[in-house]
Amino acid sequence: MSIVSLARPEIRALHAYDAAEQVDDTIRLNANESPAISSIDNFRRPLNRYPEVRPQRLQSSLAYRFGCAAEQLLVTRGSSAAIDLLIRTFCGAGADKILTPYPSFSMYRHYAEIQGASVTEVATLAGHDFTIDVDALLSSCDDSTKIIFVCSPNNPTGTPLPRADLLTLLQERGDKSAVVVDEAYIEFGDQPSAIELLNKHPNLLILRTLSKALGFAGARCGAVVGAREVIALLSAVQAPYALATPVVECVEDALDEKRLALATAAVEQVISERARLMTEIEGYDFVSKVWPSDANFFLIRANDAVAIMEHCKSHNVLLRHFGGDLSDCIRITVGSRSDNDALLCALNCYGKE
Ligand code: PMP
Repeated sequence: MSIVSLARPEIRALHAYDAAEQVDDTIRLNANESPAISSIDNFRRPLNRYPEVRPQRLQSSLAYRFGCAAEQLLVTRGSSAAIDLLIRTFCGAGADKILTPYPSFSMYRHYAEIQGASVTEVATLAGHDFTIDVDALLSSCDDSTKIIFVCSPNNPTGTPLPRADLLTLLQERGDKSAVVVDEAYIEFGDQPSAIELLNKHPNLLILRTLSKALGFAGARCGAVVGAREVIALLSAVQAPYALATPVVECVEDALDEKRLALATAAVEQVISERARLMTEIEGYDFVSKVWPSDANFFLIRANDAVAIMEHCKSHNVLLRHFGGDLSDCIRITVGSRSDNDALLCALNCYGKE
């Protein structure tokens, strides 16, 4: 059975927005657009016209790149927009909930709160490098648990989700919950994408982004991948014309083979810099733990995390601190070689000034 039946009833009854028809080489007097050519005209599609309701060519290119059919993918305004879309589609305000391991990416909670859905957080196994606790996750589910969000590699811990754990979640929840695997950082680790499980698991959805490995955070482009009927439902909820013409053209160009090769080289550089930084940082006596990471960041535990953050900031280097159980931890994003040298230089004089 499809997880479409889990969606809010009013969403299941919704028809896609009836946008003005777009036919090439016709006179368009049907969309209240300006007939004047826009004063900025360096795009392949004129900016005085609305973009495609859904960017077909970009959708096909991303599907090809990720290894799924075009109808199994919806292009979104960054993967954050996909998180929002999923929660609005499946969770009724005051009625339904999402479930997610803790610590993880805070946007799942953020969008659930906006929607009025409740959030159940289940602690990860801190003693086991923050691996998820599958049994605890499953026993925290009930009939109103519409979506389980798991992030792999996890932000902010860098932990990959073991394939066996994912399969257990998918099998045990079946048509009772959507299982969303957020693969924002997948390119920085060794694990294959869960997209290869899609055809066997209709409750699986995968989030991908162009903001990290591909280096296009400023373009705001991501995707949600899943069963065709679920993608069709999400598409009916997504705003028409969600992706702007400049973004669509920029990302179409970014997917050209030469540019992809540059992105792959940049990822390799980040992976090697991650190893160098981790080794150096392990050597400081004020650092008590450096967790392994499959992402473009890693987490450390330090004696006085806030003082270290402030010290680095005074040397022009910003790091990320979280509250709660991670108040003695710092997340360090791996930068360019010179950025990382600047960080090490700041840390070298910590406590000595
Ligand atoms: N998922 C995770 C785990 C993230 O860390 C981020 C961004 N920090 C996102 C999704 C959202 O990325 P974007 O909207 O840029 O695609």
